[in-house]
Amino acid sequence: MSVIFSDAWLITMNERREILDEASVCVEKDRIVALGTRRDLERRFPEAETVDCKGRIVMPGMVNTHTHLFQTLLKGLGDDMVLKKWFTCMTGPSGVHLTVEDAHVAALHGCVESIHSGVTTLVDFMYVHTKPGMIPSIVEAFEQTGMRGFVCRGFLSTGEQYGVPPELIERPQHALGDARKQIRRYNRPGGRVQIGIAPNMIWAVDEEGYRLTRKLADEERALITTHVAETTFELETAATRYGQTDTEFLSEIGFLGPDVLAAHCVHCKPHDIRILRHHKTKVAHNPCSNMYLASGCPPIPEMLLAGVDIGLASDGPASSNNHSLFQAMKVAALIQKGFHKDSTIITAEKVLEMATIDGARALGLETEIGSIEPGKKADIVVLDFNNPFMTPIHHPVSAIVYSALGHEVSTVMIDGRFVMKDGLVTGVNETELRRKAQMHADNLARRAGSDRLRKRPWRSLAI
Ligand SMILES: [Zn+2]
Repeated sequence: MSVIFSDAWLITMNERREILDEASVCVEKDRIVALGTRRDLERRFPEAETVDCKGRIVMPGMVNTHTHLFQTLLKGLGDDMVLKKWFTCMTGPSGVHLTVEDAHVAALHGCVESIHSGVTTLVDFMYVHTKPGMIPSIVEAFEQTGMRGFVCRGFLSTGEQYGVPPELIERPQHALGDARKQIRRYNRPGGRVQIGIAPNMIWAVDEEGYRLTRKLADEERALITTHVAETTFELETAATRYGQTDTEFLSEIGFLGPDVLAAHCVHCKPHDIRILRHHKTKVAHNPCSNMYLASGCPPIPEMLLAGVDIGLASDGPASSNNHSLFQAMKVAALIQKGFHKDSTIITAEKVLEMATIDGARALGLETEIGSIEPGKKADIVVLDFNNPFMTPIHHPVSAIVYSALGHEVSTVMIDGRFVMKDGLVTGVNETELRRKAQMHADNLARRAGSDRLRKRPWRSLAI
């Protein structure tokens, strides 16, 4: 199949960051093959179907470097709580009672929601394995919707003393044995969906868990992702247990490397940042979640200046209530400006880089995705900016980062396949899926006892 996206306002995100007017892009099979004028491309590729993008923005598909898809069923149950209560009363019990069918429906809904907000690659961090079959049920959702990305086999191996439900705790050997099985089942060179490994965090994974993860990743050449320095609690437990920060500890045991994607890094100090840079470890920045859970404002400008690669992320909807990278982009810019009292500290352009090409680099996929250039995979998003929010429009990057709400995404292609066309996701019946997701969310909340949180009193102030 060949397709020409014609006459668009084209944000390439190529090396020169060119923004082209009335530009056209030709896709053949799964790759972008040429950029040019409509006339030129229609002459060179006469068989191609033309998608008229006049008056529209065409941009690379966005990369969500950290989420927990199963939490799609938990939206709104954890609002305005302190972290401990959020985990012990809601997220933890929900994990215990999650079924494989719940995980599948949540992943499907999460993928559909992501596509609607222009995401074409996502990293799922799945740490609930109370029943066998969780990972295949999520891979299936990626297959059905056409999503690209990593389904990471997560685990917790300790942490009961901090409120981790015992049902969620696995022996590292068991968890990583399963991870190896899933990697061998699904990972192919250049495959659209890959399995990664995801030890959870310093207070919920023991040293053996991290050491065995590194060994498995080296043997199978798999991506690792883990939570790093998200909260002060992580630093306190790392100090008590190891007498150092979690970043220092992970470096010392030989865990860090360029294949590690560290989510959050909110409390990384200059020394930790130097360690991340030294190992070329990547960072997934979750601005909405960090604010929602009051974790703190991560040192993003400091990490960027040090040369650390940072991708943008939504985090799970238990702590951000959606998968929108449009919201994440705006919040990522605003929190740094407010925190540093410096409106120049970060730009709309940098934030868009984090959502596209930098996110691709965070996953080691920068030669394949993240920009619109001949030779790259055809992951393309079309935005219809003819609406009250994005107009009047002076500059497309400003409009995307600061004005857009996300519903402007009209057409999405992943790997050369239309996964959404004219506002409708192609791989699923969206109405039916929404009904099913609500049903699974209701039933899970009932089983987990978190449905009482739906009857919350009106709290104008928490105190
Ligand atoms: Zn997370």
